[in-house]
Amino acid sequence: MGLVVQKYGGSSVADAEGIKRVAKRIVEAKKNGHQVVVVVSAMGDTTDELIDLAEQVSPMPAGREFDMLLTAGERISMALLAMAIKNLGHEAQSFTGSQAGVITDSVHNKARIIDVTPGRIRDSVDEGNIAIVAGFQGVSQDKKDITTLGRGGSDTTAVALAAALDAEVCEIYTDVDGVFTADPRVVKKAKKIDWISFEDMLELASSGSKVLLHRCVEYARRYNIPIHVRSSFSGLQGTWVSSEPIEQGDKKVEQAIISGVAHDTSEAKITVVGVPDKPGEAAAIFRTISDAEINIDMIVQNVSAASTGLTDISFTLPKAEGRKAIDALEKNKHGIGFDSLRYDDQIGKISLVGAGMKTNPGVTADFFTALSDAGVNIELISTSEIRISVVTRADDVNEAVRAVHTAFGLDSDSDEAVVYGGTGR
Ligand code: ADP
Ligand code: ASP
Ligand code: MG
Repeated sequence: MGLVVQKYGGSSVADAEGIKRVAKRIVEAKKNGHQVVVVVSAMGDTTDELIDLAEQVSPMPAGREFDMLLTAGERISMALLAMAIKNLGHEAQSFTGSQAGVITDSVHNKARIIDVTPGRIRDSVDEGNIAIVAGFQGVSQDKKDITTLGRGGSDTTAVALAAALDAEVCEIYTDVDGVFTADPRVVKKAKKIDWISFEDMLELASSGSKVLLHRCVEYARRYNIPIHVRSSFSGLQGTWVSSEPIEQGDKKVEQAIISGVAHDTSEAKITVVGVPDKPGEAAAIFRTISDAEINIDMIVQNVSAASTGLTDISFTLPKAEGRKAIDALEKNKHGIGFDSLRYDDQIGKISLVGAGMKTNPGVTADFFTALSDAGVNIELISTSEIRISVVTRADDVNEAVRAVHTAFGLDSDSDEAVVYGGTGR
């Protein structure tokens, strides 16, 4: 029996009862003969509460201090979990991300892992312990400051450790039974997916299906680590995310034409109004944005009115970066040359994902038809080979997701999509 990495999300360890329940589950894996490394998130909505607290003392807290604060959440849960396991008569040791050898770059609040040197974790499990690692955090290579990996980053910690420790599998335990064809909080008739390819999961994750973080899926694909997403509240088999389809009976599970519908209401839209229609303008705008270390998502440029020679450029970005982007553009207003900026945070994005889109030209038309039948107006469109996304009003998102889910025949006959915990925050 090899080594397994298990990751428990905040909803699974929301209170003392949750921690004790998870501890039992971890001990079971150990009793079955596995070496067990556990990655744990902060309890319940602790991270959000810490963010609220920071905002009350400072509107734009310094990245270094913000990260120092947020990593406290995971330190609480890792220590409590180790105590609960010891109470069941098994040896456990907790480690911060830094102690576990999670080395990152120095971009605070969304650092990238650049190396994992898990010597202490290896020694700890070889001595017979269950090793508990605080998720979502690392230490920067150059300055040795504490960093965080971005919201939901414990998923990435788990996969990165699984790769570095050559684990058999990385199990992600959460508050739903796996990856569904849509968010079970929005679509009661969403279906559980038995197997999904890294590619389709990557598109779902980057389109807002927060059940897995896209960086974690990227990492798993690069190192070919199979992920098993499942509930910590039930004993059911979950969803396998891997390069090759899993076997069911003596048959391989088939790749679905459409994997699912994702939605995201965490983005905002900035429109740069009155941009001169000449070479170099888009470059100047997006250089300003990238120099501020902001990732953008969709872009559209409108056709310029011939009489004015001016055009508008709109793009979407995480709401959390909205202020920073506006400030950076305003500062460069003269260099870039534009009239004004418009900021809209009442938008939402709906995406349809599936490898079958490549060979099925009707998908796009059916998607737009479903949206128009539901009376949903489309503001922006973007596509990849296996995804089509639209931006709409935020208020329309849930209705649009349900309409598209039904139109593509994804609704299940039963209400199998159970949400066991969490506040969905
Ligand atoms: P954790 O605290 O365990 O990390 P998250 O809240 O980050 O849990 O992720 C689990 C949540 O992801 C679910 O409760 C669900 O609302 C949401 N979700 C969004 N899209 C999907 C999907 N396609 N399948 C399953 N869950 C999804
Ligand atoms: N606690 C962090 C967050 O809420 C990391 C995680 O849960 O994965 O984003
Ligand atoms: Mg998560």
